[in-house]
Amino acid sequence: MTSLIDPYSRHIDYLRLAVTDRCNLRCVYCMPPGGVPHLHHEDILTYEEMVRFLRISVQAGISKVRLTGGEPLVRKDLDVLVREIADLREDVDISLTTNGTLLADQAEGLAAAGLRRVNVSMDSLDPDTYRRITRTGDLADALAGLEAALEAGLEPVKVNVVVLEHLLEELDAFVDLVRRLPVHVRFIEYMSPCGMFDDSYYVSAEEIKRRLGEIGELTRSALPPVGAGPARYYSLREARGTLGFISPVSSHFCPECNRLRLTADGKMKPCLFSREEDDVREILRGSSSDEPVLKAIRLSLAKKPRDHGGFPESPGRSMSQIGG
Ligand code: SAM
Ligand code: SF4
Repeated sequence: MTSLIDPYSRHIDYLRLAVTDRCNLRCVYCMPPGGVPHLHHEDILTYEEMVRFLRISVQAGISKVRLTGGEPLVRKDLDVLVREIADLREDVDISLTTNGTLLADQAEGLAAAGLRRVNVSMDSLDPDTYRRITRTGDLADALAGLEAALEAGLEPVKVNVVVLEHLLEELDAFVDLVRRLPVHVRFIEYMSPCGMFDDSYYVSAEEIKRRLGEIGELTRSALPPVGAGPARYYSLREARGTLGFISPVSSHFCPECNRLRLTADGKMKPCLFSREEDDVREILRGSSSDEPVLKAIRLSLAKKPRDHGGFPESPGRSMSQIGG
């Protein structure tokens, strides 16, 4: 099998694909209250274009594809895209990052189409705080989505929690969640260069870990969930799930980076924080040959930086336009 190796000998096998830049929520750290200006419909890749790009990527060495956004579930017929990706090759690991509010109705269909696992973003378990953070969201919808993902047999089900100050009041609730449900909660440090506000609300993952240690003894998980990536997982006695920490700010995981990104308008990004973008949309629209597309993938790969050099300025797009 062919593989993609970057200039720093990292094996790149993971592609994050933003299927849309639109979202039904307006999380305070991700978007301004009125949202960000939407891409024009004709600028967004069609499913056909995405599948063609993925076929070429999979042949080149990509084996894991994560669908993200904006909110991927606002794009119509996402299950159709999932099935077409699953048909590319049997062993492609297809996953989804979603706010979960539209998942209750879609989880079963997505699982049947070939989706394997899901990350549900849920920054608070208190209905009022959840509404304040998402501006428009209803916690009950996200929780229903989480339950539906478990019922549909998606495995593992992870919960993404961006660490902001309010969380210090809610750690008991998240501990209770992993005691009740077999879900893997990941506390993710807030990244101000791609966020809406500065570091004044920043709390390190290490601080959260220390506080959790006061609630119950954390032991390093012997069996981290599939797709553990940069997260470090811990078990808690009598819990069905685990607690994990992703620390992009306090401890960089660039040496283990295995990913490339494609935005909804067809720009390849070699790193979340990079302003470099390679346009594959025009190539996909201008040529029926695979060769120029493959060349663009290799060009983006060659631009992968060794690391993001501390914290650079903003990556030039909001997180909803990059896909996280
Ligand atoms: N709408 C989907 C969701 O919220 O899961 C997918 C896209 S969202 C941009 C992907 C992830 O990025 C979410 O877990 C979100 O909480 C996280 N995120 C957004 N802005 C962030 C920031 N500035 N720092 C850390 N995580 C962020
Ligand atoms: Fe939407 Fe996800 Fe951004 Fe929240 S974090 S506004 S759900 S794209």
